[in-house]
Amino acid sequence: MTAVAKKSAVPKSLRLAYQVPGKHWVGNGFHVHGLLRPTPELNAFISPFILMDYAAPEYFVPSDQKRGVGQHPHRGFETVTLAYQGEVEHRDSSGGGGIIIPGGVQWMTAGRGIVHDEFHSKLFTEAGGDFEMVQLWVNLPKKDKLTAPKYQGYRAEEIPVTTVGAQTRLRVIAGGFERLKGPASTFTEINVYDLDSSAGDEFSLELASGTNTILLTMQGEVAVHGETYEPRTILIFDQDGSSLPLSLSAGFKGLLLNGEPIDEPMVAHGPFVMNSDEEIVQAIRDFQSGAMGKL
Ligand code: MN
Repeated sequence: MTAVAKKSAVPKSLRLAYQVPGKHWVGNGFHVHGLLRPTPELNAFISPFILMDYAAPEYFVPSDQKRGVGQHPHRGFETVTLAYQGEVEHRDSSGGGGIIIPGGVQWMTAGRGIVHDEFHSKLFTEAGGDFEMVQLWVNLPKKDKLTAPKYQGYRAEEIPVTTVGAQTRLRVIAGGFERLKGPASTFTEINVYDLDSSAGDEFSLELASGTNTILLTMQGEVAVHGETYEPRTILIFDQDGSSLPLSLSAGFKGLLLNGEPIDEPMVAHGPFVMNSDEEIVQAIRDFQSGAMGKL
């Protein structure tokens, strides 16, 4: 499903465009716009992606108090954290952990269950500064929901970059683009690209028909099919069509998600995303009995 830039294919139409103006706190460190949520209405158009929280740029004063979320469990999916400004530190019960610095990505497979915590790094907390981050939840197919937990951490220099259009930088975090392959290993066919266009640009990306496609504009504006969308807008495209024509303003920064939908029942309950109510009940029991481990 490797994507290429091309102009001849049938364009994907836009299904939905929206903003979530309000922010909420996740712990005391992540002040986020909750842009994607696991609802039955949305699932068909965003699967295998389940959730997206965007911590839009915000200044944090220097502090000696830890900021973030204390230990909590996950089962049945993957959490993907992309740091744009500031630093996030993570530890989990499978022994995974690390500090993600700007340009870095953490891809954590909860699988059969982990317990982890997520905090601003000590260094960043003490120094203060602007913080910007995205967290995605990526679903696992039924056959892999109870896979062993795994931690992948990638620094900016491990993520391949290419140019699309005249001068837009495209970073391949997962999946492929032309001859490039993203470092993150995934359970289903997924492309995750960062786009950064300092001077503005216009081009089409080829993405397989039948896949779901989501674009988050973080900075600048994007025009699609003649309509212009502001920063912090989510665009969700139809599965039909195989090209994505984008017109980016100067200073555009965005995140493009594309993936083969997982066509299976989904039951999401707090930190667990399974296929049935019974499996959710089991997850809660397993967490409470300590079967997901501890830090
Ligand atoms: Mn978490």
